[in-house]
Amino acid sequence: MDAQVGIIGCGPIGALLGNLLGRRGISTIVVEKQPKPFGLPRAIHFDGEAMRVFQAAGLAEQVLPSTMVGRGMLFKDSADNVLIDWSREQSIGPMGWYESYRVHQPGLEKALVDGLSRFDDVQLKRGNAVTGMSQDQDKVTLQLEGGETHTCEYIVGCDGATSMLRDAMGVGVDDLGYKERWLVVDLMLKAPREDLGDYSIQFCDEENPATYVRGIGDRRRWEMRLKPSEPDVVSDEVVWEKLSRWIEPHEADLERSAVYTFRSCVAQDWRKGRCLIAGDAAHQMPPFMGQGMCAGIRDVANLAWKLDAVLKGNDRQLLDTYGEEREKNVRQFIELTVRLGKLINQTAAGNAPTGTMKSIWPSLGDGFGRRDGVGGELAPQVRTPDGQLADDYAENRFYLLAKDPENYRSASTLPVIKGHWDKLDEIGFNAALIRPDGYAAGGVNSTGDLIGLCTDATTFGLLDLEPSL
Ligand SMILES: Cc1cc2nc3c(=O)[nH]c(=O)nc-3n(C[C@H](O)[C@H](O)[C@H](O)COP(=O)(O)OP(=O)(O)OC[C@H]3O[C@@H](n4cnc5c(N)ncnc54)[C@H](O)[C@@H]3O)c2cc1C
Repeated sequence: MDAQVGIIGCGPIGALLGNLLGRRGISTIVVEKQPKPFGLPRAIHFDGEAMRVFQAAGLAEQVLPSTMVGRGMLFKDSADNVLIDWSREQSIGPMGWYESYRVHQPGLEKALVDGLSRFDDVQLKRGNAVTGMSQDQDKVTLQLEGGETHTCEYIVGCDGATSMLRDAMGVGVDDLGYKERWLVVDLMLKAPREDLGDYSIQFCDEENPATYVRGIGDRRRWEMRLKPSEPDVVSDEVVWEKLSRWIEPHEADLERSAVYTFRSCVAQDWRKGRCLIAGDAAHQMPPFMGQGMCAGIRDVANLAWKLDAVLKGNDRQLLDTYGEEREKNVRQFIELTVRLGKLINQTAAGNAPTGTMKSIWPSLGDGFGRRDGVGGELAPQVRTPDGQLADDYAENRFYLLAKDPENYRSASTLPVIKGHWDKLDEIGFNAALIRPDGYAAGGVNSTGDLIGLCTDATTFGLLDLEPSL
């Protein structure tokens, strides 16, 4: 074998997966067709759960300089009335990080790509496209442009919306009903424009829906829906004309403008044998909630520990829980995004819902662990008494989050961390087994329950996954 895992594509999701696997000591080859990183931003927001995954990759400190804390989003009608207020907390939230971050994507991607060089066993091959693959019982072979081949135990297609691997796996996508062309414009302010504010604003308007996003530093973005009659190539002159409601050419430099077709879809299958897909290769959504890349980040957090367990000899069926769990979770983000998209596109003044909105934290679909009201839910990341973040303390392995840790400490070598989680009281448990991706595997009330959960079929005999247990 050339590597245990092959990753196709070194966008944010492929690069992050390379780091998560590298940290687990898994030999990995990442193949990227572009000779250089894509220098322009697309994603401009990620959430606290994504930051928790960057922490798991050992890169939180490296990512932070390319971010600022997000203020939130306002939905306004054409008369400038606030319809929906989606403000974000300005203090550290349940993930152990802020609820929302603004980000400069090239800075984030640089941190992720540079991070790969920490691992002797992770190789990045740039400027070489994967053109095909073949798999049998024991291995999968990547074919690269120019005839080079690499043999791996598993491959993961992080190769974006037009995924070569998804096609090679013969997997179709379910279209979830949104398809529109939007013009995306990134500007650098030449002088402060405090009046634009720190909130992102969705200008809900049947005729000219648009989005304003406050980027980090002097960066500002506008996104404007194009009419069917408008061309795909928009001249700078027309861009400024469209922006004239908010900003004039003397106030900012145009960094880039591009037309994107925003879609909503999800792959019908996420695994075929030794091949898996993640990120935009597995799902796409319009950017109205800033969740497309976040969903890919959740994918690889879910997949990395399962690949590790299977490579160590555990049941390969564990990999089937990846798509089952992730699909249900991502569909909820896509459905809410599409609903918000309709609001932005169809709202006439005085004819829309009003109120406040809260971030959603959808559960995982059925898969690893029990679904007992706690299992499958995203657990908070508490701090240990000496101030360490729980996932760091547990070294990104399973741990027990317990209201009263002394009841459990003697029974196992599993890390036990004292902490509060509303869900435990709500459902009637006093502790939860937390997986390496931050989701709970199930709730327990005694050491007997814990042993039952760890040996349960739904946890694939966790005792084997975690020899330290
Ligand atoms: C305008 C816009 C705004 C957005 N805003 C947000 C936001 O605020 N927050 C958010 O979370 N998401 C946002 N998104 C979505 C986000 O950008 C994507 O979800 C994310 O970039 C997907 O990452 P990826 O690594 O899966 O795919 P990509 O970024 O597309 O990377 C795929 C990589 O694979 C490589 N590749 C493809 N085929 C091959 C091959 N055959 N061989 C080798 N390499 C190959 C490509 O060159 C590329 O580098 C936005 C998207 C757009 C368009």
